[in-house]
Order: sequence, then C-alpha cells, then structure tokens
Amino acid sequence: MKQDPICKKKVEEDTSFQQEYDGKTYYFCSSECLKTFNEMKKSVIRLKRSLDEKKRVSFGKLNKDVIKPGICTLCGACAASCESIAIKGKRPRIVGPCTSCGVCYNQCPRTITTEEELVGKLRFAYSAKSLLPRHNGQDGGAVTALLAYGLEEGLIDCAVVTTHSKDQPWKPVAIIAEDRAQVLESSGSMYSHSMTMEQLMQAIQQGMRSIAFVGPSCNIDAVHKMQRSPYGFLHLFMRANVLRLGLFCMDTFSYEGIKEFVETHGMRLADIDAMKIRKGKFEFEQAGQISRFSLSEFDEYRSSSCKFCTDMAAENSDISFGGVGTPDGYTTVFARSSIGYEIFNEAVENGFLEARALEDYEMDRVLNLARMKKVQMYGVNRRSKKT
Ligand code: SF4
Ligand code: SF4
Ligand code: SF4
Repeated sequence: MKQDPICKKKVEEDTSFQQEYDGKTYYFCSSECLKTFNEMKKSVIRLKRSLDEKKRVSFGKLNKDVIKPGICTLCGACAASCESIAIKGKRPRIVGPCTSCGVCYNQCPRTITTEEELVGKLRFAYSAKSLLPRHNGQDGGAVTALLAYGLEEGLIDCAVVTTHSKDQPWKPVAIIAEDRAQVLESSGSMYSHSMTMEQLMQAIQQGMRSIAFVGPSCNIDAVHKMQRSPYGFLHLFMRANVLRLGLFCMDTFSYEGIKEFVETHGMRLADIDAMKIRKGKFEFEQAGQISRFSLSEFDEYRSSSCKFCTDMAAENSDISFGGVGTPDGYTTVFARSSIGYEIFNEAVENGFLEARALEDYEMDRVLNLARMKKVQMYGVNRRSKKT
C-alpha cells in the first residue's frame, strides 16, 4: 500500500491516479488529490526557482537551527511543503531525498530569513568616518562627529554619553556633554554597563529639551519604552525630544570582573591604553603591545541579561552605529528614522563626516553577527537544560 501525499489515505499501488515528480512516483486516492498535487507542484517549482542561491539550504540547517535546539512548534509547515519530510515521533524527520532547495527553511516560523528580522527596519546603511581633526573614537568615530555637529548647529542642547571615570581607570561613567571637547572625551569603547538613564533624567530636569542619547540596545529600549508606553515618563510628564543613537552590542562584563582578570594576568587597568573585542578575542593594548584573550575566558564576568539579549543592532534607535561590517577606521551606520536620516546626512553635507553606501558583503558581516545574537538564547536554554 502507498500513501496519498495530500489526504494521507492508504491507496493501492495499481491506482490509475499516479504522478511522476522529481524521479519519484506518487499515488493518489482520487482525481481531486492528484489535481491538488499538480497545482502544489507548480507552486513549489516556482518557489524553488525564485529562491536565490544563498537561501538554498538543506533540511540539515532546519534541523540544526530549529529542531535540535528544541524550538520547533510542530506546526508542520516544513512537512506540508516537502514530500521528503514527515512528522514522526513528535519531530520533523527527513524521510526521502533532500535536494537542498531551501523551501522548508523558508516556511518555518522559527527561522530568521530576512534582513529586517536580523537588524530591524532601516532606511539606509553607510560606512562612515569622522572628519574631525581629533578623534580617538574606536572605529570611525562617527558618533562623536555626529554629536559635535548636533551641538555646534544647535540641533541638540546636550548629549548623554559614557566616558571614563576620573578615579577608577576604565570604569564607565555617564555624563551630560554640552560641547565638542566633552563629546571627544567620551569616544572609545568600554565593555561595562553605565547608568545612562539617570543622566537623561537629570538633563531633562535641568531644562534641556533636545537631547541626544547614546547607549547600547538595552538602554535605547529603555528610552523608547519611556517615550512610547502610555505610562512612560517621557510620554506623560517630561516633554523632551530625545534622539536615540544606538551602539551595536554583543556583550558587557562586570567592571570588577574585567579588573580582576587584567590583574590576574599581570596588568593594571591604569596602564591599558585601549580595549577592543574583535573576532572572538578581548584585546588589551598597553604601550603598543596587544594582549589577546579568548572571550570564553570572560564568561563568568558576562552580565547575565546579555545572555538573553537578542538585539545586536539597537533596532529601536534613530541611528545605529557599530564597528562590524566596514574596514578598520570606519563605522557602520544604519539610519533608521526620518530624523536620524536627515541629521546624519546633514552632518555629512557639512563636512563633519564622510560616508558611502555599505557594500553587500559588508552588510553580510553585520547580518552574520546579528544572527549569532538572535539565536544565542537557544544555546543558553540548551546548556541550562543540561546542567
Ligand atoms: S528538498 Fe525538502 S527537505 Fe530538502 S531543503 Fe528542500 S524542502 Fe527541505
Ligand atoms: S516548520 Fe519549523 S516549527 Fe514548523 S514543524 Fe517544521 S521545523 Fe517545526
Ligand atoms: S548585550 Fe544586550 S543586554 Fe547586554 S549590554 Fe548589550 S544591549 Fe544590553
């Protein structure tokens, strides 16, 4: 006996309702099921043709990204779109040849297949660089240049930024910057949390009404919530325009943890000139020498919330900035809102920044990192089940 692939009824092998497709014979209980199959077949062929090369992945990828991590909802969309998949033993399984056409992966509600799902909505993506005579910002210094433009043109009253503590080396401290010198001081990355929201509230209480706020995705989310929630402070009481400038972020670590690590390895935070996370390594630069350590060595110091965070690209910001994607010395910039797009382009036209369109291969690098961030939580869940 054979099974009708449409209604799943058992049918005799000598039925007159038969159809060859992709080197295999299919058997049907009726002309209706045969007709449905032929219509579906045409749609699948059309779909397979329209999927571009990059999206043609095998069932193995669906298994790796969705089924194995335990996030399959058993919706059956994969099995419904391919004869070679069947739901057996409470999971989709491959039961026939896989041609790596990618159709099943692109039906599954748990896969991430579009740019917007990875990095959020954006108007335009750039590679940019500061044209300010002095900037010590990591990568292209685009945030610093944009803030300098905003302050000098009177578009913003101040900027809430993070700078180095005067007493504790490499301890991040949030400040309200009101001129270019203060903004320049704040450039360069640090990898611990700072209390930016307190400074935003203070700036508003001091009467600032147009404020640029710089922070990683989670801080941008806080501002966004306060602006958009019906009970949000910025929505209800504190009428101020806040321009959200988000920083790409993969992780942060406790300040005490970084300090302990550095000292255990014979260094002092006071002697470190620069810190950078690059290609899975934490780099510490000291008198021209760079010491590199695997990021996994910092696992115990990683902020617990970062393990559950899925937003690498600060999706709720007006403009997002990051070091990944573009070459060293440049910043990847995503202009998202209309105000963000306008201010960024004005800063370019007025000679504070140079910018070009982000190339596709550069965007792919950003998307790869964003994908890692989106799916890391599944790995965390799996690890925590094992322990
Ligand atoms: S042949 Fe079937 S199992 Fe293989 S990728 Fe295509 S839809 Fe998925
Ligand atoms: S489409 Fe995705 S979620 Fe639905 S059954 Fe298949 S693997 Fe599971
Ligand atoms: S990884 Fe996420 S939660 Fe952690 S600091 Fe960055 S944006 Fe915030």
